Amino acid sequence: MTAAAPSTTCVVCSEPATEALDPPRRTLARGLDPADPSYSVTVILPDIALCAEHAGDVRQGKQLVGWCDNERCRSYGALSEPSACGHPFETLGASKRS
Ligand SMILES: [Zn+2]
Ligand SMILES: [Zn+2]
Repeated sequence: MTAAAPSTTCVVCSEPATEALDPPRRTLARGLDPADPSYSVTVILPDIALCAEHAGDVRQGKQLVGWCDNERCRSYGALSEPSACGHPFETLGASKRS
């Protein structure tokens, strides 16, 4: 368990974060257009900042955290909730499974 920076806020409720959890995936590979090398980018995801209450919920699976990869966001939030750009936060875990 790593202490979050004092200025960091919980990605779910915006209360001051007290914990930082490892994301389910540490990297996010963008492959929108495989023919364009500029899209072959792997994003290194940061730790997920959470308050004590939501850190417990996430560990128990009661709260799911998603990621918005829009360049205006690039942030975590409650899964399926709309992010700042309007797109819902998307799941990190099983999205590439087929
Ligand atoms: Zn919280
Ligand atoms: Zn967004």
